This record gives sequence, C-alpha cells and structure tokens, in this order.
Amino acid sequence: MRTFTITTADAETSRIVCRKDILEQALPETLKAYRQVFLFSDETVWKIYGTRVRRAVGKAGVYCMLAGEAHKTPETLFSLLSAMAEAGLHRSDCLVCIGGGVVGDVGGLAAALYMRGIDCIQVPTTLLAQVDSSVGGKTAVDFCGIKNLVGVFRQPTYVYVDPAFLATLPAREIRCGLGEIIKHGALSPEIFDTLEQNRDKLTDLAFLADIVPANVAFKANVVREDAREGNLRKCLNLGHTTAHAFELLDGKLSHGEYVLIGTCIEAEISASRGGDAAYLARLGRLCLTALGTMPALPDPAEAARVACLDKKNTGRGRIVLTVPVAKGEYRLLELGAEEYERELGRIGRKLCSDLP
Ligand code: ADP
Ligand code: ZN
Repeated sequence: MRTFTITTADAETSRIVCRKDILEQALPETLKAYRQVFLFSDETVWKIYGTRVRRAVGKAGVYCMLAGEAHKTPETLFSLLSAMAEAGLHRSDCLVCIGGGVVGDVGGLAAALYMRGIDCIQVPTTLLAQVDSSVGGKTAVDFCGIKNLVGVFRQPTYVYVDPAFLATLPAREIRCGLGEIIKHGALSPEIFDTLEQNRDKLTDLAFLADIVPANVAFKANVVREDAREGNLRKCLNLGHTTAHAFELLDGKLSHGEYVLIGTCIEAEISASRGGDAAYLARLGRLCLTALGTMPALPDPAEAARVACLDKKNTGRGRIVLTVPVAKGEYRLLELGAEEYERELGRIGRKLCSDLP
C-alpha cells in the first residue's frame, strides 16, 4: 500500500491511497464515518462493478450517468444534484464517484456545489483517471461547446486507487492513460527509465499496476506545490497544446492518444531548437511505441489556427508550448502561428516515415 497526502495552500487536504481490494477493505472502512453515502457512476462501470460496490457500501442511493465525454454536461450535473437532494443528502454526508475521468469530473463538481461542498471520495477506474485526473482536485463539465468551461478546484477527501480495475478496461483506454504516463516520464527521469526499460510491456496489466503508484506520487507532488496551476503545474501541459488542437479538429482518437502525438511532435520542435536531440528521439520513440500506428494528422494551418485560440495561450497569434528539453527537463516555448504551422508540416511528414 502507498499513501500520499496533498495539503494545498487553502488548507484543503486530500489523502490518496494506492492499494489492492479497495472495494472490500479501505472504502467500507472509511464510509463508516458517514451517516449517509451517495454513489455516482456511469452505466458501463456500474454494469461491471455495481454488485461489488453495493456489497461493499451497503445501503446508499445511486445515480448512474450515460458513459462518455458527450454526457459531461450541466444537465448530467443537475440530474445528479437532484438525485442527491431527493436522497436527503446532508452537509456531513459523502459522495463516492466510481468511474473514469468523466465521472470524477462531474461528481467532483457536484460534491463541491451541493450545500456549498460535501466530502467526495474518488474511486478512479480508468488508467487515465488513476494517474492523472482523480489527483489534483480539478472538476468540471463541458459547456457552450467548450471542454471543462465550468468547474472549480476542490480536493477530494480521499482518492482510492486500485489497479485491479484496469483488468476490464478496453485496450484503447489503456493507451489513453499511457499518454499521461509518458508525459510524466518526460518530466521525471525515474519514470522515463522505467518506461524505456519496459518498452515491450507498456500495456501489460502487471507492469501498469507497478507503475501507477509512482505516477500518482509524481502528480501529487506537482499539485502539492501548485494546486491552482500558477506555475509549476504548467509542466503538466507538456504535449497538450498540440494534443488539444488535434483533438478539437479531428476528434477521432482519445485524449491520451492525442497527448502521445502531441508529446512526440513537441519533442521534435524542441530538438530543432537546441534540445537534447538524442534523448528527445528516445522520448518520441516511446510515444510511437505506445501509439502503435500514426494516424493521418490534421492540416497544419488549421491546427495552428485552433492552437492560437487555446485558453492557455497569450493570444495575438502566439502559441505557447510546454516542451521537453532534456531528461527530466522542460521549458515554455512561444512560437508564432506561422512557425508552428511550418513545424507541424515538417514533423508530420517525418513521423509518418518513422513508425517502429
Ligand atoms: P477517461 O477516464 O479516459 O477520462 P471516461 O470516464 O469516459 O474516460 O471512461 C472511458 C470509458 O471507459 C467509459 O465508457 C467508461 O464507462 C469506461 N470504463 C471506465 N472504467 C472502466 C473499467 N474499469 N472497465 C471497463 N470500462 C471502464
Ligand atoms: Zn491530459
């Protein structure tokens, strides 16, 4: 078992526990402290784990949303809040969110809003949610066609991470989580070495179970230092400017797959601007191994146009990238839209001929 505690500058505390048998042991034990508990999940996860959750938690209200990002909406949020109100949930009660990043985001926001905030326990069931989205207290729903437009920062009381949930995850969802894991590798030399030494095992469940705690620890460390994305937390944006632009334009792949592509492209951009070329090539190869095949990339001009609109950018036609530079090192790089477009064109052609 590994436990990490995050206490933010606002004195919010979150305890993250990585261990086996979460549903049978840690969760029921923790829930004894609450008078009433409400469960939130999605229909896919509930079909697989509902019976076990029920057995573990006992009497509790349940609301299941439809699975998928398309349902990460204010409507789902308010349906959940209605169900919580109808169940008579009180300020000292607790909401338990069991599912991937979508369930975690909507549930985290509902817990933050209900009676101005009740305790929230996150039980992430996807690789992405375990190593990334459940840690750090970001909550949100999509609104007006913009991802995560409405949300708050609020730390969950507990995050219970059990890699056993990964056994039922489709291969694509594993790849999705690998995007964030390789991003952590670009920021942490230890994680990079482990990934590189196990390149042939990247999707093995036993290997993933082994590396989840180190990734949780890495994310927790960043959040501990900078809960509200002031400065350090920007490192977590590595590969993401390109990933978000492609995701918006193309949308056929998962977020994590775009992060793999974005990290690979931004490593190339950095290599042509004085970054450690040998290391950046190794990082790129790791991304391509996790990705398997390189899909057709969106039009560079369109991607540059969309990247300029990214809310993390300064505007005025400049694009800010968090790029890997050398092992464990990153920097913020600002490019003009035309320069970025030229780089996307050049690298797109190179990558298509570089696949392992
Ligand atoms: P993410 O965690 O990648 O942000 P979602 O929350 O949308 O994304 O989860 C991705 C999909 O995987 C959803 O359809 C969800 O129902 C499903 N899912 C989540 N956890 C599991 C699991 N442990 N086993 C099988 N499917 C799962
Ligand atoms: Zn991401």
